[in-house]
Amino acid sequence: MELEQHIDKQSFLRVGLIGDPVAHSYSPRFQQAAFDACGIPARYELWQTGESELPARVASLLVPQSLGANITIPYKEAVLPLLDVVDPLATRIGAVNTIVHRNEYLYGYNTDAPGLLHALLELGVGKLREPHYLAALQGDNRLNTKDAFSFAGYTAVLLGAGGAARGAAFALVNASVERLIIVNRKLERAQRLAAELQQESNCQVFCLNDPEFLIPYPTSLIINATPVGMHVADKEGNKEAENASPMPAEVLARFAPDTVVFDMVYNPTQSQLLCQARTLGLRAVNGLSMLLHQGALAFTLWAGRPAPLEVMRSTLL
Ligand code: NAP
Repeated sequence: MELEQHIDKQSFLRVGLIGDPVAHSYSPRFQQAAFDACGIPARYELWQTGESELPARVASLLVPQSLGANITIPYKEAVLPLLDVVDPLATRIGAVNTIVHRNEYLYGYNTDAPGLLHALLELGVGKLREPHYLAALQGDNRLNTKDAFSFAGYTAVLLGAGGAARGAAFALVNASVERLIIVNRKLERAQRLAAELQQESNCQVFCLNDPEFLIPYPTSLIINATPVGMHVADKEGNKEAENASPMPAEVLARFAPDTVVFDMVYNPTQSQLLCQARTLGLRAVNGLSMLLHQGALAFTLWAGRPAPLEVMRSTLL
């Protein structure tokens, strides 16, 4: 109903990605395909935004033709105070990746956390507690995955403590992961996140700022939630970041052969971390499946209807 009101008044609707950088993103590709497939006259754009421009950029989402936005690196935490209403899940996580413009207010949501769990489940990592649970859920109810998934028995090693890492950490802890080890460059940031997580569950959470000190456990899931390894085309064409890995190969080599390495980075599709993992015979998966699922949940929030998942998926193949 809300979407139809927007369409009646305006010739086309706008939605986009706010971040710095944004050029690496595949979101326009599959979100545009979804709007087109549903016959919704909307354009998905990239909105490169410097830190000082963030408040004005978010305020600009209040124009009538705006559906909202996605938020990416490095603003998922910084955007919270700029919104009118923040969904309880996103408030707990402390990070927003989707803004919806509804009835002249800006609402914040986190679709990264459920998007990651949906992606891992599709890959056969973790379990559904109730086999029919997902089929019974509709629309944005799929955001609330509490009690739906189980990662019992897994040790998760989370590289990063920023916006995306926060979503992953809360999602895994709520899905009963046995142990969570957060490795972050700034140790205090990881410790702050660990303290918040400990209020939510009895899960053991450890923090490190150097992966060299990691002690591998069996049945490990390593998740990279840092941009290290991401393709960033700077003005000089410098691709140094793309050839870097957030975990030294010698450390990765200590993990058991059943270890799954999930890199949220998807551009390039084979990051340095994933190449190292494959060379060692570990299962290595890029962030495209998470991108798809977090994006499908965001689409549902903007459009008020289920996302055409297979249309979106086909643009990422
Ligand atoms: P963010 O909030 O800015 O957090 C970045 C994190 O990475 C922080 O923990 C930061 O550590 C760490 N970091 C940054 N540069 C580093 C470096 N050179 N060496 C070591 N650590 C570094 O960013 P975000 O929104 O969480 O995004 C993180 C990455 O995940 C991005 O590449 C993003 O594209 C990707 N992502 C992908 C998906 C998907 O659907 N596939 C979804 C969400 C995010 P400090 O705390 O020490 O600064």
